[in-house]
Amino acid sequence: NEIVKAEGTDEVYTKSPRFIQLIFVDINGVPKGMEIPASRYEEAITDGITFDGSSIPGFQGIEDSDLIFKADPSTYAEIPWEGIARVYGYIYKDEKPYHADPRGVLRKVLERLEKEGFTAYIGPEPEFYLFKKNGSWELHIPDSGGYFDLITLDKARSLRREIALYMPVFGLVPEVLHHEVGKAQHEIDFRFDEALKTADNIVSFKYIVKAIAEMRGLYATFMPKPLYGMPGNGMHLHISLWKGGENAFKGEDELSETALYFLGGILKHAKALAAITNPTVNSYKRLVPGYEAPVYISWGYRNRSALVRVPAFWGDGARIEYRCPDPSANPYFAFAAILMAGLDGIKRKIEPDAYVEENVYKMSESRREELGIDTLPGSLGEALEELRKDKVVKEALGKAYENFISYKELEWERYVEYLESKELPLETKKVTEWELERYFHI
Ligand code: GLU
Ligand code: MG
Ligand code: MG
Repeated sequence: NEIVKAEGTDEVYTKSPRFIQLIFVDINGVPKGMEIPASRYEEAITDGITFDGSSIPGFQGIEDSDLIFKADPSTYAEIPWEGIARVYGYIYKDEKPYHADPRGVLRKVLERLEKEGFTAYIGPEPEFYLFKKNGSWELHIPDSGGYFDLITLDKARSLRREIALYMPVFGLVPEVLHHEVGKAQHEIDFRFDEALKTADNIVSFKYIVKAIAEMRGLYATFMPKPLYGMPGNGMHLHISLWKGGENAFKGEDELSETALYFLGGILKHAKALAAITNPTVNSYKRLVPGYEAPVYISWGYRNRSALVRVPAFWGDGARIEYRCPDPSANPYFAFAAILMAGLDGIKRKIEPDAYVEENVYKMSESRREELGIDTLPGSLGEALEELRKDKVVKEALGKAYENFISYKELEWERYVEYLESKELPLETKKVTEWELERYFHI
């Protein structure tokens, strides 16, 4: 193996990877993993590698924690700056798929969808902020850019391009790079793909962004609302279902019936879905009026104030844009829940109501009532209550639901205790120290 010295650093690595990182995500969607010498790769694919899952957030208790990771070789990629490779996989317990493995949960849902003849395609729009440390964390100053700003105001343009140049190495196709509304806030969209691949891609994307930012002395956060009074980080999802090689959302000169029912299902389950697509205390600091993040359960053509926007493409590009999810979501769970909610709409022929052409933020409460427009949960606590009542969304997670809800209930309880200790009200919309400590790394 040829020894290579990384440019501008003292790091030395070998050209063909000597180590392989085996990556899965925990209940929060945070990547976890171990490394094996490349000589064990075969074994990782066939027999799998055993590990102790007791300290993985949301997994097994210590009494019974032996798990097995089996590599999925179709996901293999080299990490050029580390000189190693990484691979995703599935987790097994006692020869059977492990119930709380998020990737396994999504695979199951996709199999159910396939039985109905559908393949799901999803394209995400993840947003993130760049921070640097000057004693304490502060925004990547002197970036004072806003939406679509170029050159002098946009201090991270070369960093964004560097990220985009690495993306294809991991199988992602970057499509649009731009400065977002917030100072030091950015967005890089990549091409839609089949749902499991896109969920993997989201994990890879965050990994790449964080790694490159770190190399440049910065810190990237996907926390939904790092700063009070500034725009939050969303992760809008563009979703379509295909059947027999055709886009099933494609109608004559609008969405197909299938798409409208799917949309009906999403709106019907939107409150419970929030617990999964917006699963942190901090997520609900983003879902407030004034920052292009949704608050009201409504849909509209082109309308960016609605929860679901239907972009005006009626051909193969026909799709819906779900604007609620944020990048703190576990993408496997989020996709599983959204797709089952939509499928429920198709099966029960749920008509989407709450159609809006106006800006919903500017509507009076009585006008919203007249149109039947409901509100998204105002906190993680409220969202969890909705989830407990929603059979369809719970079932999407299968037995992982129990792991998820007990983990999240504890998270909510801890936050409430924190608020009490600081004598802060439950409705606190400011971002607390507690959140920064817990979620900044997201
Ligand atoms: N940052 C906004 C959000 O929280 C979205 C802005 C946009 O439309 O891209 O969802
Ligand atoms: Mg955006
Ligand atoms: Mg969008």
